[in-house]
Amino acid sequence: MKKRFYRFAWNCCKRCKNGIDQLQQLFSDSRLDPWRCAECGSTEVAYQAWLDGNTDRFLSGPNDRDDLWCDVCMENTSQVRESELMRNTVEPWWEQQTTDKQREAVTGLRADDYDDFQDYCHIWWNRQSNDEKIRLWRQARQTEETISD
Ligand SMILES: [Zn+2]
Repeated sequence: MKKRFYRFAWNCCKRCKNGIDQLQQLFSDSRLDPWRCAECGSTEVAYQAWLDGNTDRFLSGPNDRDDLWCDVCMENTSQVRESELMRNTVEPWWEQQTTDKQREAVTGLRADDYDDFQDYCHIWWNRQSNDEKIRLWRQARQTEETISD
């Protein structure tokens, strides 16, 4: 009876802990502002961590995010928060590094059809989600890499 109670309490605690972990994940920065690979923008990133051998409780992770695994790149890359990637890389790429030709290809708009083509591009861009903006940035980078190879 005593053993059964302990097993019940243990399983109950594990379920509560899993529930709390899920709640923490739901409201954590990682969900609102996930870690992404700085090279490709993927959220399929990982790191190795130490867990308590008995409870599987998280003990510690890496000290920095400079040399960690990306499943898409299939190598170690830096990881950055999505907000940082958008602010420092994806938005500047769109604002400063895309040509009219690239913008036509991305937006489906034709520069000749608009007097204020850049304004329409700006409006179009701001309607896209971060996921979509990152996808377009990654696609453009892959195209550049293919051309330069
Ligand atoms: Zn990557």
